[in-house]
Amino acid sequence: MNDDKNASAPAAGATAPAVDLDTLRHSAAHLMAHAVLDLFPGTQAGIGPAVETGFYYDFLRPEPFSSDDLAAIEARMRELADRDIPIVRSEIPKAEAVRLFTERGQTLKVELIQEKGGDIVSTYSQEGFLDFCLGPHVASTGLLKHFKLLSVSGAYWKGDERNVQMQRIYGAVFPTAAELESHLHLLEEARKRDHRRLGPELDLYSTNEDLGGGLILWHPKGARIRAIIEQYWRERHWAGGYDVLYTPHIGREVIFQTSGHLDFYKDSMYAPMDIDGQNYYMKPMNCPFHIQIYKSRMRSYRDLPLRWAELGTVYRYERSGTLHGLLRVRGFTQDDAHIFCTPDQIESEILRVLDFSLSILADFGFTDNKIELSVRDPHNPAKYCGADDRWRQAEASLVKALETRGLPYERMEGEAVFYGPKIDIKVKDALGRHWQCTTIQFDFNMSNRFGMTYIGEDGKEHQPYMVHRALMGSLERFFGILIEHYNGAFPLWLAPVQMMIVPIAERHGAYAEQLAERCRAAGLRPHVDQRREKLAYKIRDAETHKVPLLLVVGDKEAAGGTASLRIHGQGDKGAVEVDGLLARLRSLVDTRSLTVSL
Ligand SMILES: [Zn+2]
Ligand SMILES: [Zn+2]
Repeated sequence: MNDDKNASAPAAGATAPAVDLDTLRHSAAHLMAHAVLDLFPGTQAGIGPAVETGFYYDFLRPEPFSSDDLAAIEARMRELADRDIPIVRSEIPKAEAVRLFTERGQTLKVELIQEKGGDIVSTYSQEGFLDFCLGPHVASTGLLKHFKLLSVSGAYWKGDERNVQMQRIYGAVFPTAAELESHLHLLEEARKRDHRRLGPELDLYSTNEDLGGGLILWHPKGARIRAIIEQYWRERHWAGGYDVLYTPHIGREVIFQTSGHLDFYKDSMYAPMDIDGQNYYMKPMNCPFHIQIYKSRMRSYRDLPLRWAELGTVYRYERSGTLHGLLRVRGFTQDDAHIFCTPDQIESEILRVLDFSLSILADFGFTDNKIELSVRDPHNPAKYCGADDRWRQAEASLVKALETRGLPYERMEGEAVFYGPKIDIKVKDALGRHWQCTTIQFDFNMSNRFGMTYIGEDGKEHQPYMVHRALMGSLERFFGILIEHYNGAFPLWLAPVQMMIVPIAERHGAYAEQLAERCRAAGLRPHVDQRREKLAYKIRDAETHKVPLLLVVGDKEAAGGTASLRIHGQGDKGAVEVDGLLARLRSLVDTRSLTVSL
């Protein structure tokens, strides 16, 4: 799961571009720690990596950092940068490093040094500031020019909530002022679109302390959007040659023993519950259940491929500190599918599932995707389960599908999970951010563990190929991405309320209701605003709630059988004839148009 706060370690041995952004970021983290230790003696420094959006450093200090403190730290960083202090790497005996950091009262650093193997450790210093670090760093502080401190939040030492809580200061740094400027603008846009703000504001969903973190309450409007997505999803799947399944939320221990989840995945599963003296678990994945259906009868090569999809709700343990709105939750519904096929079918099946995925993503407006192909580490074949020739065939089918469609992709050697190679698709949203959604993944493990077979043309038993596939990932997460991508202004086909009908005075209420009835008869979703509020207020309210269309009706409209139309984001369109409008809207919905053009 990608999260903009995920730490990414500087890539060792990566080819260095002219300006290595990670080195710049990590050096800015040092500069910040330098400034913090200067200004706030007695503060302990934890870790300070480069991350996808900049850098952070964790500090241990009893008093919270205020926004004034951040400004002071940033000013101090600027002074240190202006003095262009050389950044010096040293390699020293571990015992010496322990002594140096103990002397400075940096006991967290001492802990890190002691955990590190080997007798020699590397340090970086800039004037009085010393850090235990592998590097690399820029040559001097003067190379850091365009930075900004952004926020401070809580973080546990080593990410473990049993440990002490530290203060994490985030910052951004770029090679040029223009890049920093555009990044800050993007952050501001992202803040405005944050689904954790927009979701409750638009009355789409909520979370609740009494219910428990990471559990989502879908309000009527959010639930309407979800139901539309689910309906669309099912129809596309049936049309695409899939069957749809339903399976339970819990299952006996033995099924998760056989699947291997209790060996490999137990940390993400909730404690078992006792039912009639037997342990039952909430499912973290749907696969074992689909396999039970596969195994419920003898399968022949003539039955294959089987394409089985389920909107399957699963429960996984996530640390409370990592829960994040709709993006990282503890209960969620995957748009899951499993494909079981013969070796002859994998090429066409993979191509088919790739086309299917891209076509569904495109209907939501995601056409600019980043594709990653994760394959085995060729130097370490023992790490993986499944026969060598099967791996080769599976990887070849993934490559073939991507190349057949001429899709650019990044090949990531050694990134495959132990049970099979995969394709991941990351969508690019309106702000240019990438979100991991689709996964198409072979599995050589489960078909083995469950002893899945089919009778081949030769009359003998063979093992089918099994592919896991999720397109949106989970409905919760995808919904969060959609809210931010559309900025809460859903396209007509997804909008929970498509048109707000506003009568100018009470006497126009009956005509407004009549109009709503005609909308509903056309399969559209109207709402009549009968509140005793001023017209201007109602118009503004519909705008705030990002309702795509606003139909204002008064004497003239009632007499002429028309409506005065406003389109969200486009403004006033004047009087329109109702039948023509409804027919046009119907066709926009049917074609899942992303914009309203009349
Ligand atoms: Zn460092
Ligand atoms: Zn699966």
